[in-house]
Amino acid sequence: MIRLSGREAGSLLSKVTRTQGADPISKPRRLIRGRVVDENGRCLDEVLLVFLPGPGSYTGENMAEIHCHGGEAVVAVILDELMRAGARGALRGEFTRRALLNGKLDLSRAEAVMRLITAASREQVLGAARLLGGVLEDQARRLKEELLEALTRVEAAIDFCDEPEVSGMLPESLDRLCEWASKLQSSVRRVAQAELEVVVAGKPNVGKSSLVNAMAKRPVSIVTSEPGTTRDAVRAGISLHGVRVDLVDTAGLGTEDTAGEAAREAERVAREKVKRAGFLIWVTDRPEEPRPRSGAGMPPALFVVNKADLMGESERAEVVRAGGLLVSAQTGQGVEDLCEILGRRLCEEYGPADGIPLTSRQEEALRRIRKGAERASSALSNRQPELAALDLKDALSGVADLLGEDVEADVLDRIFSDFCIGK
Ligand code: GDP
Repeated sequence: MIRLSGREAGSLLSKVTRTQGADPISKPRRLIRGRVVDENGRCLDEVLLVFLPGPGSYTGENMAEIHCHGGEAVVAVILDELMRAGARGALRGEFTRRALLNGKLDLSRAEAVMRLITAASREQVLGAARLLGGVLEDQARRLKEELLEALTRVEAAIDFCDEPEVSGMLPESLDRLCEWASKLQSSVRRVAQAELEVVVAGKPNVGKSSLVNAMAKRPVSIVTSEPGTTRDAVRAGISLHGVRVDLVDTAGLGTEDTAGEAAREAERVAREKVKRAGFLIWVTDRPEEPRPRSGAGMPPALFVVNKADLMGESERAEVVRAGGLLVSAQTGQGVEDLCEILGRRLCEEYGPADGIPLTSRQEEALRRIRKGAERASSALSNRQPELAALDLKDALSGVADLLGEDVEADVLDRIFSDFCIGK
């Protein structure tokens, strides 16, 4: 489908198309059958046409759509005709950006459009759709009104010395604000991209590739008894609790001294992957193996001890005591549990699968709202209206950020540069 937006959308459509009987401009919002023609009047495609006059359209401007056949050359030829008639190619996300500038949606909904497009599972679609439905915008606007009202009262209290009802009235709306912000914070889905990388790492030959195959339930990675078979990072898409993640098998770590150039490069790639992982599965095949360091700069991790089938009773007990997860990639023992636990940990780290996919900018704004409201509340109970006014202003600027009011053009550029063309 080819979309046009702008004042001339209708006249451009008329220039490159012909219809018999009704034309789309005089019958707006209806699909009309027609033909796209070149400058000599030769038919290029039989199409369906629709004209959507502004301001009731997606962008708020006049819009026209050509539903043509989907072949690459057909689309290219029709686009050529439109360019010749005076159209230009849309920039990334330009339709949605225009919708934003024309007040058809706020920034949270504009970003939701992108989340919807990049969603990789049913749950992510649900989360993005909630955002698109205005779960953020409507409430934020209502709370903004309340905050403004609160600020007016507090400022009046400063000017006219302690109005008795100020402290009595306010905490309630501030409490509501805090509650709203914290509820949202706990239902945020924190993944920058649609896909999350779960990296499987450990020494050579501990069974990383076997584990990836067992978790993916298909042979994606080569398993051999020789160390060092996996060189490039091999990946398999799997779904855990409705979250789609990329399981990444890496070369074994700790081969540097003896191995050749390819193995050293493979090891470098693996270390890089570990550092950037959204989540790490660290695999060993011995209970006494020390765990890698966790903490600052390292992704959250699960510690897995493989080859349980080769272990005796006491060795197994030792693994469990040390908090390791006992599995056997070969027999499948413990693999389901591992997937279950991994799914739960991913929810803890990144929020529920169908959570609202906020950007880090929006999350930061939520934190500011909550902190501002909490501080204002305690300042008021300490009878410090001047401080409360400052905190309320802070919370208000958080709300403005959340709604994307007064966003600078370069921030918009960055946001929309992630969109695809035609959205
Ligand atoms: P990687 O180098 O860490 O990826 O390890 P592989 O998956 O290639 O496995 C190395 C060797 O260990 C192969 O011979 C596998 O068959 C064997 N292996 C992997 N998992 C298990 C397991 O759970 N039990 C036993 N007994 N052998 C395993």
